[in-house]
Order: sequence, then structure tokens, then C-alpha cells
Amino acid sequence: MTKAKPQTDTVRPLPASSVETWDFEADVVVVGYGIAGVCAAIEAARAGASVLILERTGGWGGAAALAGGFIYLGGGTALQKSLGFDDTVENMTTFLTAALGPGVDTAKIADYCAGSVEHFDWLVDCGVPFKESFWGEPGWEPPHDEGLMYSGGENSAPFLDLAKPAPRGHIPQLADKKIGQRSGGYMLMKPLADTVASLPIDVEYDTRLRRLIVEDDRVIGVLATHFGTPVAVRAKRGVVLATGSFAYDTAMVERYTPKLSGRPGAAIEEHDGIGIRVAQALGAELAHMDASEVAIFGDPQMMARGILVNGRGQRYIPEDTYPGRIGQATLLDNDNQAFLVIDETSLEEALATESATPFFRFPPKWVAESVAELEAEMGLPEQTLQTTIATYNRHAASGSDPVLGKKAEWVRPISTPLACFDLRGFTAGFTLGGLATDLDSRVLHVTGEPIPGLFAAGRATSGLCAGGYVSGASLGDGSFYGRRAGRAAAANNAV
Ligand SMILES: Cc1cc2nc3c(=O)[nH]c(=O)nc-3n(C[C@H](O)[C@H](O)[C@H](O)COP(=O)(O)OP(=O)(O)OC[C@H]3O[C@@H](n4cnc5c(N)ncnc54)[C@H](O)[C@@H]3O)c2cc1C
Repeated sequence: MTKAKPQTDTVRPLPASSVETWDFEADVVVVGYGIAGVCAAIEAARAGASVLILERTGGWGGAAALAGGFIYLGGGTALQKSLGFDDTVENMTTFLTAALGPGVDTAKIADYCAGSVEHFDWLVDCGVPFKESFWGEPGWEPPHDEGLMYSGGENSAPFLDLAKPAPRGHIPQLADKKIGQRSGGYMLMKPLADTVASLPIDVEYDTRLRRLIVEDDRVIGVLATHFGTPVAVRAKRGVVLATGSFAYDTAMVERYTPKLSGRPGAAIEEHDGIGIRVAQALGAELAHMDASEVAIFGDPQMMARGILVNGRGQRYIPEDTYPGRIGQATLLDNDNQAFLVIDETSLEEALATESATPFFRFPPKWVAESVAELEAEMGLPEQTLQTTIATYNRHAASGSDPVLGKKAEWVRPISTPLACFDLRGFTAGFTLGGLATDLDSRVLHVTGEPIPGLFAAGRATSGLCAGGYVSGASLGDGSFYGRRAGRAAAANNAV
């Protein structure tokens, strides 16, 4: 670039008139080489466009390569069918509308569910392996390489009466997992990155998006930096933003999701919200900026067999549900206060099971010979925990939980001696809100019209989730709408 060096410390759009030399050029420029970016690049190239991926780090993968690998798919995928589970598009739509709300984008949910079977087949065609094996135990992930698991509370209250339960957490097969380091997500990204390598797609690593370049009201490129040096990249057909969430931008988290302040989880530091901010600076609409995924650092086998109480000694969630729902209910609705109370027999039974997260099986903080003693040790007002357990036990004697609807198989009166795990503050999560996009992944302006030349997918956008979360929603909508972004950008008129 020979004109005055453009500023790189602002997110304001850069007028094309200030660019003298373009350092790179492609029909479609994809920013970010994680799950949304890889899918966008593949589909754009297959549609005949020349494609350039810009990635801030030195390699492909993003958060996706570290992920557990759940991809939320259903409606009768080949894997569901081969494992004997019936599912329909309507059933999946009903469940997701309830579980991801309130306030979901109903058109997006319907579209995603209708395309889910084809999307599974597409992943398989790209080489993503799924083992025909089902894991039916409570857990964050299967401990082995099983390919299918319940991952959203479909088979627990309140959803099991709303839609026919079906497992939809599809997990790429990987032996010798190391949760949080190398898990199913790696075997999602690796075959897709191999697919990229087999197509005429260029990649520039260590190249970081800073600003969008615009001509009139159209996005025609990006200004990036390569080891601090500005580079101008021209996109003849479109730019796809696939840079991830804002979980690691302190100011944005404090503004939009303050309860997540200081507790980012299941995200990477590169998720600094840049994709959202450069588009906002062009007038982009946002959606569900307060939505958050929340994990709780508890063992699901233990939680299902015990009771969870808040800081007032009251139960607040059926303990056999998806642990991510427990995390959200704890952080967002119960001041991040959770205690797991479980008796000795149930604890021993839980500890004898297999777990993908053995590090959540730490010793209890308190053990007691009676509920009254435990209540006092925990510092709860007298009769709070005692009343909760008396009520629970009264109904548990006949195997029911009319208060919260825990399934009979997990309901058993709590006896003594008993223990309590102090789970206060044991949550972390990532942000789910972002750019408002349409079904072709076009970024929408606050007027409701698409911003010409600008597409986005993944956690830089608001996808399926408005309030709730299911494991697999992020890799699911990121890959699904990443593909849409690639196709739509490739089909865009060239400039
Ligand atoms: C341990 C762990 C477990 C998880 N488990 C699951 C799961 O089982 N199922 C699920 O659905 N989700 C899971 N997630 C979340 C999921 O991985 C992410 O939400 C998802 O990868 C988001 O997709 P994305 O394409 O938006 O971002 P990513 O996959 O992170 O890709 C974004 C890419 O953009 C790059 N980038 C960022 N800024 C710039 C810039 N300025 N210029 C150029 N490149 C840039 C990043 O380096 C990164 O490579 C998990 C995450 C972690 C870390």
C-alpha cells in the first residue's frame, strides 16, 4: 500500500478510495478458519468462486478443533436411524423452539431442522466419521468414541412431554480423547480442513481482520494486519465473517452478558468480538446479545442422583436434565449459587460409573450424619434444607418428583449419612448473541435490508439460540450457516 498507511486501531469502515494496492484478491474472502469459516470456504469453492481464508492464528481449527464435537442434528439422520431412534423435522422443531427460547428466530429453527439430515450427509461426504454407537448415560460427553448422545435435555422435564425425545448430539469419532484439548471437534475440523486442501482455496495465516473496506454502501474487502503490517484484501463477490464470539472481550461481556464477566469458557482468546464490531460500524443489526451458554463444573452422574439447591436451600431444576441447562439456571437465575446434596449410597453408585469428566469428581465440602447437621454446616437458615429434603423424600418414596419432574429412574429418598458439594461460582460460558443474519447468512442492516457484500456465520452471529442452549448448537449452526454464507457469497454479483 503506498497511500497514507491506514489506521488499524479502529473498526470504522475504510473507504476503498484510500487503498492504492490490493495485496490479495479473491471472489470470496472468508475471515476465520474455524467451523463456520471452513464450511463457507468449501461451499464457495465448490460453487466455482476463488476463495481466500484469512486466519489470525498460525493454524486452522479455532474453538471448533478444541470442542467436544457435538453437532446438533436430527429429523431422522442416517446415524439416528441406524441406532433405532425415530425423529422427525417437526419433532426437532418443536423441541428446539422450546429449549432455545424464549424469542428464537422461528424461520431459522425451521430452516435448520428441515436441512439437518442433508447437513449430516454433507459432513459425512466431507469425511467426518461418526461411529454407530449410542451413549445413554448422564454426562457432558461420552467417555469413549460413541457417535450419538442426548445433548439438550430432550428426555427430561419439561421437554419430554412436549416432543418425543430423540438424541441429536452427533459426535465425530475420535479415540483417546482429552476433554478440552483434543476431542470430537478435532475430528470435525480435520476432515473439513483436508477438504479445503483438496480444493483451490488459498489460506493466509497470521493475518488478522481489522476493518471492512467499502465502496459506496457495499463491502468490497477487508483491511487486515500481517505481523503488524497492514494488508488490503479485495473480495470481488463477498466477505464472510467467521471470527467467533465476543466471550473474550471484557468490555462487550460487561455490556451485554455481565453475568459471564470473568468466567469465559468453551471459547478461545481470539473470540474478541471483532467480526461483530466491524459490521456494527456499518450499521449491522444485532440479536440476542444477552444469550449465553453456561457450563457447570459438576458431574452429571452425581447430579442426577442427588438434589441441587440454591443459596436458599431450595431446588430449582430437575437434576437429570442437560447439564448446560443446570449451568444456565444456576448462573442466570440463582445468583451462581449451587449445592449438590447426595447420600452416601447414591454417591458410591455414581462414582462407580464411567465419566468423560472425572476431574469433576472432587471430594465433598461437607459430610454429615443428619440433614439438620448438614444444613447448619452449610450455613443455611434453619429448616430450609430440611424442608426441601422432607418434601423431596415424601414424593420420592413413591418414585415421583411432582415439584420439578425428575424422572422416576433417578428419584430415590435421600438417606443419611449424606454429603454436600459446594458448587457456588462453578460456572463458565460463552456468548451466543451477535450479528442478525437471514437464511442466506447475509448480514442485516438495522433497516432490515442486507448489507451488500457482507455475510457471516458462527458465533459472530446470532444463530439458533435466543435464551436456552443445547450442546451442538454452535458447531451445528456454525457449519450449517457457514455453508449458506459460502454459497450466497459465491452467487453474489462480482464488483
Ligand atoms: C472445550 C470446548 C468444547 C466445546 N464443545 C462444543 C460442542 O461439543 N458443541 C458445540 O456446538 N460447540 C462446542 N464448543 C463451542 C464451539 O467450538 C464454538 O462456539 C464454535 O467453534 C464457534 O464457531 P466459529 O466458527 O464462530 O468460531 P471458531 O470455530 O472459533 O473459529 C473462529 C476463527 O476465527 C479466527 N479469528 C478470530 N479473530 C480473527 C481475526 N481478527 N482475523 C482473522 N481470524 C480471526 C480464530 O482464530 C478462529 O480460528 C466448544 C468449545 C470449546 C473451547
